[in-house]
Amino acid sequence: MKVDILTIFPDFFRGPLDYGIVRRAREFGLVEIAVHDLRAFAHDRHRTVDDRPFGGGEGMVLKPEPIFECMEALAMAPRDQRRAARQSAVLLSAQGKPFDQHVAEELSALERIVLICGRYEGVDERVGEHLADRELSIGDYVLSGGELGAAVILDAVTRLVPGAVGNEASTRQESFSTHPEAEARGVPNSTCAAGGLLDYPHYTRPSEFRGMAVPEVLISGNHEEIRRWRRRTALEKTLRNRPDLVDQAALSEADKKLLAQIVGESDERKI
Ligand code: SAH
Repeated sequence: MKVDILTIFPDFFRGPLDYGIVRRAREFGLVEIAVHDLRAFAHDRHRTVDDRPFGGGEGMVLKPEPIFECMEALAMAPRDQRRAARQSAVLLSAQGKPFDQHVAEELSALERIVLICGRYEGVDERVGEHLADRELSIGDYVLSGGELGAAVILDAVTRLVPGAVGNEASTRQESFSTHPEAEARGVPNSTCAAGGLLDYPHYTRPSEFRGMAVPEVLISGNHEEIRRWRRRTALEKTLRNRPDLVDQAALSEADKKLLAQIVGESDERKI
């Protein structure tokens, strides 16, 4: 996969792309990342990339010309052929559609991604309307630039590229992942795959640390008990922190019983 990042702060990416899985994926040639300085595409003496907003108002807006010219230099497929060419140009924007694990999975299957980072009050709307294929937001808050968002998307997507994570199965069992194809094949999804829920809690040695003990069941060696405990704690945590996900999750009859138990117990505690 080739990823191009368009930014007015190229040095920003020195740290985030140089560690762990992303670094390894780059070294293995699974992901090739190029960072482009938009100022190199500004032609005036001051290398101006921003200007005042038409209609008045606060702040500055990133000009369209350097972004269009930079994209042209990348020789992407024409916009109407990008999907077929497995390419996508993404504009980072607080007004974008939410970026989530499903979008990460979709992007990880592409051959080429362009990430356009805004700054100041944002980017001239013509970039979103006529140049980018989609606008993505990494959450309901306003950042001062698209660079952190681009790094977030790149991280989440890279670890889904086949071969990037040593144990591929582990990326399929994490928070949010739903793998209908695995479910259809009868792969037991209740073992520990998240199935749309948050991940279950993880522990490692020592089994007792400053008086805090690891749950007994995890040391018992009883795999069925461990499976049930993991499913139950995943349900509990999802219910507590993200009740919205419980409604959408693919729950088995056993899950529904567990859920009813959990709700019953928390009602008892309240009384
Ligand atoms: N005036 C805009 C915010 C501009 S913030 C608004 O109110 O929506 C400047 C840049 O930061 C944006 O152009 C975008 O590229 C980036 N940005 C800010 N919040 C973001 C978010 N939640 N997700 C992705 N990018 C974001």
